[in-house]
Amino acid sequence: MKLDTEVQFIKGVGEGRAKALAAYGIETARDLVWFFPFRYEDRRHPLRIGDVGRHLDTPVLLRGKVISARAHISPRKRMRIFEALIEDGTGGVKLIWFNQPYLAEQIKRGDQLSVYGIPRADRGIQIESPDWEKFEGDAGEEGAIVPIYSKITNVPPKALRKIIETALAQTIDAIEDPLPAPLREQLGVIGLRESIATLHRPAELTPDFLAQRSPAHLRVILQEFFTFQLALRVRRATEEVKTKSRKIDVSDPLRDEVRRILPFKLTGAQKRVLREIAEDLKSERPMYRLLQGDVGSGKTIIALIAAMIVIRNGHQAALLAPTEILVEQHFQRIRQLLDHSVVTAKATGSMSAGERRTLAAGLREGYIQLAIGTHALLEEKVKFKSLGLAIVDEQHRFGVEQRQQLFAKAEAPDILVMTATPIPRSLALAMYGDLELSVIDELPPGRQRITTKVRSSAQLERVYAFIEKEIADGAQIYVVHPIIEESEKLNLKPLTAGFESIQRRFPNRRAAMMHGRMSAAEKEETMDRFKRGAIDILVSTTVIEVGIDVPNASIMMIIDADRFGLSQLHQLRGRVGRGERKSYCILVHDEAASADSVDRLRVFEATRDGFDVAERDLQMRGPGEFLGTRQSGVPKFRFGNILKDHDLMERARDVAIAVLEREGTTKAAALVESILGARLAEAARD
Ligand code: ADP
Ligand code: MG
Repeated sequence: MKLDTEVQFIKGVGEGRAKALAAYGIETARDLVWFFPFRYEDRRHPLRIGDVGRHLDTPVLLRGKVISARAHISPRKRMRIFEALIEDGTGGVKLIWFNQPYLAEQIKRGDQLSVYGIPRADRGIQIESPDWEKFEGDAGEEGAIVPIYSKITNVPPKALRKIIETALAQTIDAIEDPLPAPLREQLGVIGLRESIATLHRPAELTPDFLAQRSPAHLRVILQEFFTFQLALRVRRATEEVKTKSRKIDVSDPLRDEVRRILPFKLTGAQKRVLREIAEDLKSERPMYRLLQGDVGSGKTIIALIAAMIVIRNGHQAALLAPTEILVEQHFQRIRQLLDHSVVTAKATGSMSAGERRTLAAGLREGYIQLAIGTHALLEEKVKFKSLGLAIVDEQHRFGVEQRQQLFAKAEAPDILVMTATPIPRSLALAMYGDLELSVIDELPPGRQRITTKVRSSAQLERVYAFIEKEIADGAQIYVVHPIIEESEKLNLKPLTAGFESIQRRFPNRRAAMMHGRMSAAEKEETMDRFKRGAIDILVSTTVIEVGIDVPNASIMMIIDADRFGLSQLHQLRGRVGRGERKSYCILVHDEAASADSVDRLRVFEATRDGFDVAERDLQMRGPGEFLGTRQSGVPKFRFGNILKDHDLMERARDVAIAVLEREGTTKAAALVESILGARLAEAARD
């Protein structure tokens, strides 16, 4: 039988079932063969419930009759619990599920259940969240490892198993391997036929197999990862390749100048990253590089040196920052360092028409060498004489459109994106096979460890007493409320209320408020006073989330901290611990906050490294939410997990690079096509 044979010609499939299967995208024998079980039941050894005690902590299959079932709420953890007791004449065992109240509708006293799970001894023997099926007392598949496929409406599970078995038996010899033998060897994978056959009918359920990391699974994972990586690279190679005509070179006088500017010695990591960037600037291919470095690792100075390299070679540089406050801070610091040796200008949304005109003319004529601005710099009207380098600061959601907007500004500018909210390496690799990564994995010497504490609002007075003491000792404090600045309807009430209560509690201290609705001049003035130490407590929205650098500020108190994502909390925490003072980050949550969200804060309390925080955040929220809506192009893979399998992703990437080099674009593109033709790696399609 051919793989293209329509399902209705397979034994056991009539018109009705063909329709039912089609609703799930299954139309041919090939589709059936690629429809893998999502779990297996080892029915060779159904266990007597009375023997469960001797099989703790390993998966077992049990059969029994439900003799009681009840739903209740656990008082301690505020979780909804459903419990059932099953019995088979040799003994009984408790089954327990969390937060699935609907099970009470599905599992009733007297039902025959077949359950598959791991028995544990915890106040008697029980199985948590087992897989379950109602069992009709049919023993037809007894004595085998049974593949369990996800449910298809109107095709009973047993019939579906039979149909797939028939399709497999009749087409297995027709399955051709789209990966030639040498490529299989490079990837370290087995043949496709063997893999598919094993996935449907494994001979043994080894731990590897159950963890979906057996050779049969690895074949599928690596094939998908490889195809994805190769497709990315083919696409990039066939994109109109722009080369730069700029000649950039790093001369000795330039080196000397940079040395003079530097107020400190670069860390080893900063030096390494700078070398990587300089190589890119000198190369013919435009740079597209992501510079990751934890909060406070010193990315700004690297950006500045990169800008100097481009500027001293006769071109312009632009630094984009997400907020006006940050633009102002960069502007001042950079002016201080450069001491007017580079013509620098600011660009923000609150510029007057006159200022806009002056800026536009200066950029167009090339008089302005370095522009520091918000997204105002991306506006179409803004034209550069010769933009050589665009740096995007603190913008981990920098999207593809912005890259294109930047590209439109000049003849293939080099692009450097900097972020302290790292996209975990695994995800970066999976998402942007074409983005180069530089990582500053070392903090400048003498950095403070920040003590992080979780407190409930009931403990607020104690926190205040502590703050009082610290202020008396000269410390400055941030109090941040969860008011997201980008939101359309910025509601400032909670902020004002918070500010007033701070004023009441600390009548003798100087408090001020900060939010995005203030004019640029007001914001500037407030930040300036805070920097000078003329404000003790700054009550703010998330406008101060990124980049702000005030070394004397040593306490970051975050109100309703449970409403923030972990990466955002980490950014906020990074505002302190920048000077001599012992620093604290205090996360305050409402008394009514859920147990889950308090647990999340505790995870954060115990995690110091930004990359760890980001991995956790990603695990908890999933890639889509982590990256924001702007980038939904996160691929889905069949068994592969982009978080856990980054070593496999790296292997796939390396092989993809080698194949592209050896075979050239046309052949590589054909290979991608033929693999996709085998209906794998749907993920690699856009
Ligand atoms: P981030 O990576 O978060 O953007 P910044 O560039 O703002 O960090 O740097 C944080 C602080 O560390 C700044 O005050 C900066 O001047 C200082 N800094 C950066 N690099 C070094 C270094 N190599 N040695 C000492 N201080 C440094
Ligand atoms: Mg920064």
